Amino acid sequence: MNTKIWLSSPHMSGHEEIFVKEAFDTNWIAPLGPHVDGLEQDLQTFTGNSHAAALSSGTAALHLALILLNVKPGDLVICQSFTFSASANPIVYQGAIPVFVDSEKDTWNMDPIYTEQAIEDCIRKGKKPAAIIVVHLYGMPAKMKAFKDLSERYDIPLVEDAAEALGAHIDGKMCGSYGKLSILSFNGNKIITTSGGGALLSSDEALIKKARFLATQARDQAPHYQHSEIGYNYRMSNVVAAIGRGQMMVINERVNQRRSNFERYLKYFTEVNNRGFRIDLLLEPDGFFANRWLTTITVEPEKNKGITRETIRVALEKDNIESRPLWKPMHLQPVFANSPFYGNGTSEHLFETGLCLPSGSNLTEVDFARIFKELDKVFEGV
Ligand SMILES: *Cc1c(COP(=O)(O)O)cnc(C)c1O
Repeated sequence: MNTKIWLSSPHMSGHEEIFVKEAFDTNWIAPLGPHVDGLEQDLQTFTGNSHAAALSSGTAALHLALILLNVKPGDLVICQSFTFSASANPIVYQGAIPVFVDSEKDTWNMDPIYTEQAIEDCIRKGKKPAAIIVVHLYGMPAKMKAFKDLSERYDIPLVEDAAEALGAHIDGKMCGSYGKLSILSFNGNKIITTSGGGALLSSDEALIKKARFLATQARDQAPHYQHSEIGYNYRMSNVVAAIGRGQMMVINERVNQRRSNFERYLKYFTEVNNRGFRIDLLLEPDGFFANRWLTTITVEPEKNKGITRETIRVALEKDNIESRPLWKPMHLQPVFANSPFYGNGTSEHLFETGLCLPSGSNLTEVDFARIFKELDKVFEGV
């Protein structure tokens, strides 16, 4: 069996070990420490956002975002349906109710028109939503101008889930700087990783200060342990932050590598399409810059001689190459079966026809030769 080609595997630069060694040499094997401060600084500089708190995960960051926005039991929170479950779960941690909204076709992210319908409907029924969670899926920015406008017009705070989008931007304004609160993830398969970790960002210093307080067990100022609020253990450790600092040294390279993967697939499928197929890749709208965390395709069997995304997935699997269907929308998940949904089936159709291809920044020439060889068999076999 050939070695496995992963969808997206960690890609260390060599700098990480130097930072980690420093943590060991100084015995900063603790939550907090100089690397945590350093990583926060790096994230602020890179995203252009003014304040950041390094945390244990992106999910923890989303949970704290909702706590800081005072989301309470019974509140309604609007959330992109086409996403990973971690975008929506923290709504339920707070006892609030997710209201899911479908995608639009240009970016695959939340549709501003259905979002407005959802907001209006919630208000009509007597409850203005407490927050809006928008996601930049697969590293493609959502239509943030429209969401900023909705957020201001209805006075509902925007939470930006940029877990998949570090390095993406619209007209130079970086993902991670759009929300009242924005979150990042450094989980093992993201564009950079700390093995596990995340961050919360905001231009409001008071919110980030409060986040750091809540993330370290909400300890009041006193010589003894005194608490007047419920706290969490959500802070990033100094050792983990050391890995993050090494990764931030190569973030621009990682974005370029992922984007060049996309260009390679685009060239390959353009040639395939010239032979009578129609495999679609998501292109960037004007001014949008995707980090191309994952390259994704959609495959309509009617336009591809009966080939489905499963045909391709199974063919790749034969040579130990990982690919994966697109995220199953939250409104179709059994656990969210009773949640309201606004949309027209766009994300459902993407789920049915879409596939994520191997997209790691560490893919080699040999890896690509194997991938294209298996794909050739699919398109030559019909
Ligand atoms: C990965 C991811 C998260 C969660 O981040 P973790 O660090 O794994 O907790 C949230 N939202 C999206 C869209 C993600 O892809």
